[in-house]
Amino acid sequence: MGQTLTEKILDDHLVEGELETGEEIGIEIDQVLTQDTTGTMVWLQFEAMGLDEIQTEIAAQYCDHQTYQFDFKNTDDHRFLRSAAGKYGAHFSRPGNGICHNVHRENFAAPGKTLLGSDSHTPTPGGLGELAIGAGGIDVTVAMGGAPYYIEMPEVVNVRLEGELPEWATAKDVILEMLRRLSVKGGVGKILEYTGPGVETLTAPERMTITNMGTELGATTSIFPTDHQTEDYLERVGRGDEYVELQPDDDADYDDEIVVDLSDLEPLIAQPSMPDKVVPVSEVEGESVEQVIVGSCTNGGYEDILPVAKMLEGRETSMETETIVAPGSKQASEMLAREGWVAEMMAAGVNFSEATCGACIGIGHVPSSDSVSLRTFNRNFEGRSGIEDDNVYLCSPEVAAAASLKGEIVDPRNLADELGDLEAPGVELPDEYDGSKTDLISPDEAVDDELIKGPNIGDVPLKDQLDSDIQGEALLKMEDNITTDHIIPATQDILMYRSNVPKLSEFTLSRVDETFAQRALDADGGFLVAGENYGQGSSREHAALCPMYLGIEGVLAQSFARIHRANLFNFGIVPLTIDEDTYENIDQGDDVEIVDDVYDAVTSGQEEFTVRINGEDEYTATLDASERERAILAAGGKLAWTKEQAEGGS
Ligand code: SF4
Repeated sequence: MGQTLTEKILDDHLVEGELETGEEIGIEIDQVLTQDTTGTMVWLQFEAMGLDEIQTEIAAQYCDHQTYQFDFKNTDDHRFLRSAAGKYGAHFSRPGNGICHNVHRENFAAPGKTLLGSDSHTPTPGGLGELAIGAGGIDVTVAMGGAPYYIEMPEVVNVRLEGELPEWATAKDVILEMLRRLSVKGGVGKILEYTGPGVETLTAPERMTITNMGTELGATTSIFPTDHQTEDYLERVGRGDEYVELQPDDDADYDDEIVVDLSDLEPLIAQPSMPDKVVPVSEVEGESVEQVIVGSCTNGGYEDILPVAKMLEGRETSMETETIVAPGSKQASEMLAREGWVAEMMAAGVNFSEATCGACIGIGHVPSSDSVSLRTFNRNFEGRSGIEDDNVYLCSPEVAAAASLKGEIVDPRNLADELGDLEAPGVELPDEYDGSKTDLISPDEAVDDELIKGPNIGDVPLKDQLDSDIQGEALLKMEDNITTDHIIPATQDILMYRSNVPKLSEFTLSRVDETFAQRALDADGGFLVAGENYGQGSSREHAALCPMYLGIEGVLAQSFARIHRANLFNFGIVPLTIDEDTYENIDQGDDVEIVDDVYDAVTSGQEEFTVRINGEDEYTATLDASERERAILAAGGKLAWTKEQAEGGS
């Protein structure tokens, strides 16, 4: 039996286990990336583990989430990150240089390599044939120290692309179509491998829009084979020598197959406030739009903004609509500026912004209350824009530009008919990605060789070994699809505390219940209860770290999102799966007791636990965990476990 492309790359990097679906495998990691909101903890943990040098081929520290540097706390973080990159041997991308995924794809992403990143959209370079996985910061720390990354072997799904995109349909519509069909849970436990004759019709940047947003499907990662399009892109970014041809075997055996005929696609849009609420743009036409933003790691490349510039050239944006363009990298900004496109867009009414995550996490350009904002981003979770009563739609740059011109949501095909002279801009790559690279500091050019810790840089909190008795109040009961944004928001008033866990913890789940953090501290332990897909969204390990700091000992949920589940193990919180009946029978404020000796049960491999509610009714909860995950939980988290391993402990 032949191999899928995923299996080939995993086979090349396999250090432990077998490539059987559901089996835990350990893989060697070639590249790691981290960004500023997850990076501080990565380096503090690297230091706390006593590691002294990066062991991966490439490690890159980006500063993209909090680049506006509102006060000294952000700049403290950035200075610390630069010093850590210098001391330990990572590339350092300065604040304003761009979003991690954009800068990484321009400079380092390479076919056949493995990449682990402490950001959920790390799968972006899957479009170049790199096997790229998002993980919690501590997993990245450990991989950077040279240890394998462990993961349950996902199912590999063949997404077969047929045909060719018609005019005005884009790569964004391919992934929106996938979300429409599969939902935000549809990719959980899966790697989506794209194949078929439609693949070669897509340029590498288009493929990376699709792999970027595979994260919204909950997929472990998404990957494309490599071909002339991959080679062409690598040549244009000046790294043609890194091209290798990678294809699945003809008789590769996939766990499932999905067929998407590109020729059938039309402009699509995700409605507020979930990326899978996808409908054709024509269904929501006429809705007036107050704000349009083009950018983010999904659609912030040169080739994403150029179509917008072409559509706006010589025209004027609507007086009712504020239009912002925020490129994904400074290189893209510089190239567009050199070619005169920045001036064209500004003349049309565009407000040109810094290359940063910014508005994607509610930092700047917060929409007015209860207004419509159209964005080319990947997520529109309620409140992520910085205001709770937001109405954020997700769409392609072409649909965004059309709305900017019309002042309302409009299918660009209809706008073209109306205007008469609006042509579909198509996809055009620059001859050469030739923006300045002065904002990327290589390890050889490092400016610091010691860690610089200002007053905003705290310590890494540690947890004791797992208790045998776990009992406490169900401190909060939540519904389905709770995101890590709900658990620890990423808005500007909070983001600056990512390196200060005691302070950040005060905001834990404040979007669900403002009193939660104080109640948790007062209760000195307890449980969280949630529905399906708990912890979807960002890779943010603070969403486990802060509850741990507040004393949360267990989470009872109907299901967990992959990265958050791993983070709960990594910070010593017991993630127990419950069925719907159990969920319905636990109320907030109930007394929850795990009847078993938890330490013994976890370490002995026990899967079913008895949960007693209010001293009476008993239910079954399941711990589905590998031996390694159980050892991590028992030790009190991954930091303690890694130290134990280094010291030759159990
Ligand atoms: Fe930044 Fe948004 Fe991309 Fe996350 S999803 S890396 S916040 S642009």
